[in-house]
Amino acid sequence: MYIGAFVTHRRIETSKRVRVRYPILHDAVKNIGSVQIRNVATIGGNLVNAVPSADGAVPLIALDARVNVHGPKGERFMDLLRFFLGPGQCDLEPGEILTEIVVPPLLPRTEILTEIVVPPLLPRTGSAYVKFGRREAMELPLLGVGIVLSLEDDLTTCARARIALGVAAPTPMRPFEAENFLQGKPLNDQTLEEAGKIAARESRVRDSIRGVAWYRREMVGVLVKRMGQKALERVHETQSLARA
Ligand SMILES: Cc1cc2nc3c(=O)[nH]c(=O)nc-3n(C[C@H](O)[C@H](O)[C@H](O)COP(=O)(O)OP(=O)(O)OC[C@H]3O[C@@H](n4cnc5c(N)ncnc54)[C@H](O)[C@@H]3O)c2cc1C
Repeated sequence: MYIGAFVTHRRIETSKRVRVRYPILHDAVKNIGSVQIRNVATIGGNLVNAVPSADGAVPLIALDARVNVHGPKGERFMDLLRFFLGPGQCDLEPGEILTEIVVPPLLPRTEILTEIVVPPLLPRTGSAYVKFGRREAMELPLLGVGIVLSLEDDLTTCARARIALGVAAPTPMRPFEAENFLQGKPLNDQTLEEAGKIAARESRVRDSIRGVAWYRREMVGVLVKRMGQKALERVHETQSLARA
């Protein structure tokens, strides 16, 4: 998938292809600010702002996104995870702009910064994101949790797991141990619960005006399991649709 940096949140939210094929991204953008905000705010601006609570960052990191940066010295590509250097800080040199976000698998690229190109549904793959806060709209999240699960042909064994967390560290993060734990295991409530506990231990949460660290850590565990269950449900829904 290619997403031009100047694509608005609303454009992503209203893309049927994104909703069906990349539900994790749809889940995330649909609750950013309000419709008025989403009509003008761009995904590129959301990433360059580099706030730990950026709802756009977590799903794209879970999708292994890379970003393309253009500047006076030419073009640079980097993993989105590495683009974030600290709260409010990203890896942009003076004069550089973020031009596009690239999510594998790749399609012929578009050069138009306001375009979005969505490839077919990934086989046996499901994804989900939750913005966890006191309310859903006009609220920065207490936590953002996204997960992408790909299954083997048996529709039980985890072929690949990606988990990304927002507001769980100074920058969006991936709990690598939790991802590795799931790899090759049967995906069920027990393994997802264990992955949640591991992710909670890996998180580097802190106290803030929106919530205390111990509660955030507890909720990382709960939400990793919950989003894992939702991602699995989505795999099975798409499998039944494919069979119908
Ligand atoms: C009321 C309100 C509610 C919000 N709620 C949420 C929310 O729930 N979740 C959430 O994640 N965010 C939220 N936001 C933040 C919002 O998503 C981001 O501010 C928005 O995505 C920024 O996009 P923009 O195009 O307006 O960028 P701007 O605000 O125009 O730009 C932000 C910064 O990035 C730079 N910039 C922008 N695009 C590029 C680029 N392509 N290359 C280089 N530099 C660039 C600008 O120069 C500026 O420094 C909210 C904002 C408001 C005002």
